[in-house]
Amino acid sequence: MPSHASFSTVRFIRIDDFNASAKHLELYSRIFPRLLSFFPLYLMPRLSGWGLYPELDDIDWMRLYEYVVKYHLCVNIAVTAAYAGLSKIPLSKRYSQSAIRIISSLSSMSLVEVCSHGLTHCDDRGFRRFPKLFGSNRSQHREFGHGFSYSHQFCNLKVSKNILEDTFQVPVRTFVPPGSQYDQNTVEAAISAGFCNFSSRLYPGISYDGINFISDDYTLALHDRELFFEGVGYLDRFRPTSSYSLFSSSL
Ligand SMILES: [Zn+2]
Repeated sequence: MPSHASFSTVRFIRIDDFNASAKHLELYSRIFPRLLSFFPLYLMPRLSGWGLYPELDDIDWMRLYEYVVKYHLCVNIAVTAAYAGLSKIPLSKRYSQSAIRIISSLSSMSLVEVCSHGLTHCDDRGFRRFPKLFGSNRSQHREFGHGFSYSHQFCNLKVSKNILEDTFQVPVRTFVPPGSQYDQNTVEAAISAGFCNFSSRLYPGISYDGINFISDDYTLALHDRELFFEGVGYLDRFRPTSSYSLFSSSL
């Protein structure tokens, strides 16, 4: 099972990384990383720890739409608002328009909740996000947490929320920190930016007024990577019941 949840505790399905540049730029070897994590070895399918893989195409999205409607499966999707290429290209300018319509439609049917998975998913200072000639750049694909000021994190959270709400025409209430990396500034910035839910593998250790923490102990935390490589049928193994919820409907 991809996350800590077991079927006795799981209440939510969450699929991360839609529009995240990590699928193209987070590159390292998963085998003997110190020895084999150099370009171009880490691009080989058997060695690659994460990328490369493409976004789901229109056919994938239509299959996902039909699956979710057929089984009335409530799915929380974590979407990154802008692509961290040479510039921050907003979702609506590069993502499939058909996919955007499908997501909006499923949201209006209360089968999908759009969550923020950051503005760019990565450390967007300079060229840190790009693959290294040698070694892993995974830590550079964490947008929040240590080393980032409150104002930087607030700005990224607010812009992400605005882009997603404008694109999908739905309220975005849940924040999913990339890689579950965050700090106190992130939590306070998320509250100020208007988020009500915080979905992460890790609890912050203290409670905060104004935001509801949802641990991955209660969540099947998946990625669009599994859907790309195994198809929408991958969700079959997590469909013993139809009792999953959207994060915001659990408030
Ligand atoms: Zn992610």
